[in-house]
Parts: sequence; structure tokens; C-alpha cells
Amino acid sequence: MSKRLIVITGASSGFGMEVAKEFAKEGYPMLLLARRVEKMEALNLPNTICEQVDVTDKNAFEKAVRKAEEKYGKTDLLLNNAGVMLLGDIATQDANEWKKMLDVNVMGVMYGMQIVMNDMKERKSGTIINLSSIAGVQPFGNHGAYCASKFGVTGLTRVARGELSAHNVRVLSIMPGAVTTELLGHTTDSNIIDGYNEWKENVGAVNITANDVAKTIKFMYQLPQSVSLREVIISDTMQD
Ligand code: NDP
Repeated sequence: MSKRLIVITGASSGFGMEVAKEFAKEGYPMLLLARRVEKMEALNLPNTICEQVDVTDKNAFEKAVRKAEEKYGKTDLLLNNAGVMLLGDIATQDANEWKKMLDVNVMGVMYGMQIVMNDMKERKSGTIINLSSIAGVQPFGNHGAYCASKFGVTGLTRVARGELSAHNVRVLSIMPGAVTTELLGHTTDSNIIDGYNEWKENVGAVNITANDVAKTIKFMYQLPQSVSLREVIISDTMQD
């Protein structure tokens, strides 16, 4: 089967970057999106367009997708991976941090889905994979707005699946536990960062890598179009 266009948001670090490297090994054409375009360009991946796009800017997001589609054909996989995590207590956290998480983690995902889903519906083929989290099905301390955003992603993915299943389009979510990437570094409260790292060390949940998650995403996509691995929860074996 010929390889079709893969769009990955948040490909400048962490899971997104690992997924891009995995698919590049197999020669897929790709569009990589993030704000730090130089990090994606430095990967020097073949058949790959890198664009500086903030996913909260729907017009820029759509323009980049349409431009890549002119070159490579319609999007076959959208990986809505871009996300931020700013941990804090609901009682004290600055509301701007809540807004940032909801804008990127929820609105960014909804924009992405709307940009590709109508073409997928028409073609009766395609896959959308959204990055939810274990924090999208389970509450954690200091995760108020982050949980709100990721429970949101879990919910909107389920609703979109209902809209698209009859059109043979897959809408899937992956829900990772704690995996070391740049994500925790967004949190502005250093006590919370220290507490999080201490918890990870204490339970021994330190061995799972971003590449383990990337390979799982590739597996979800490469199953036949008739097979929908709807929701995958993945974590370090030692995470409680
Ligand atoms: P990283 O911080 O390493 O990567 C986040 C990516 O998102 C970066 O490439 C960043 O690029 C991009 N990004 C952030 N904001 C925007 C924006 N406004 N527009 C475009 N791109 C943006 O974190 P992870 O790889 O860990 O996280 C990836 C996803 O996985 C996130 O949705 C996260 O919530 C989720 N997740 C992570 C877990 C973990 O433990 N690591 C656990 C569960 C879920 P740039 O800054 O260049 O724009």
C-alpha cells in the first residue's frame, strides 16, 4: 500500500518527535507542526515538511495542512499530540495557566479534527489519534485544569468516533501515564515539579520512554483500517 500523508502536531520534542522518527524510517510523507520549527528541521527527515504553527491558530493550522496536502495528497493520519501541562491547585493557580491548557489541549485538538475530518468522511478512510492521558480518565492532585483538558480530550474523541465510525474513519485516543519528556518543565511551581519527580522515583516509574509510546501509536495506526484500537492506556509497569 502506498504511504499517505501523516500530520503530527507537537513534533519538536517528546512523543511527537519520536513518532516522526519512527514513521520516517518507513518512508511516510509527513507534515510536522510546532512553534519551535528549528527543532523539527534539525531532524532532517525525508519527505517531510516542517511548519511553525501554533495549534491554537486554526487558520495557520489549516493553511499548513492544505499546503502539505497539495504536495502529498490528503491527510491519512492526524496525530493531535501538541499539549502543555501546567500543574497547580485549583484554589491558587493563575487562571491564565488554565486557559493556556484548555486552548492548546482541547481547542487545538478540536481544530485539528475539524480540519481533516470532512475529507476523511468523504473518502471513507483515515485515522485521527488524540493524545489524552491517564489524567483523562482518573483524577490526580495538582492536575485540576490539566485533568479538565484531558478528560475533555477523552470525551470529544468518543463523540467524534460516533460521528465518523459509520464513514469508516477511525478516531482513537492514547492515554499515557508519566513518561519523561519536556512536559513537566512547563509547570511554574518548583515544589510541584520536585514532588512529581520524587513520586516517580519512589514508585520506580522511570523506565518507560517516549519511544515506547511512539511505537504504540505507530502500531495503532498500522492496524488494518477495519480495526479500531479505540483507547489505549499505557504506562510504566511500576506506575500505580
Ligand atoms: P513535550 O513537552 O515534550 O512536547 C509537547 C509538544 O507540544 C512540543 O513539541 C511543543 O512544541 C508542542 N506544543 C505545545 N504547545 C503548542 C502550541 N500551542 N502549538 C503547537 N505545538 C505546541 O511533551 P510530551 O511529548 O510529553 O507531550 C505530548 C502530548 O502527550 C501532550 O498532549 C501531553 O499532554 C500528552 N501526555 C504526556 C504525558 C507524559 O508524561 N509525558 C502523559 C500523558 C499525556 P513547541 O513548544 O515547539 O510549540
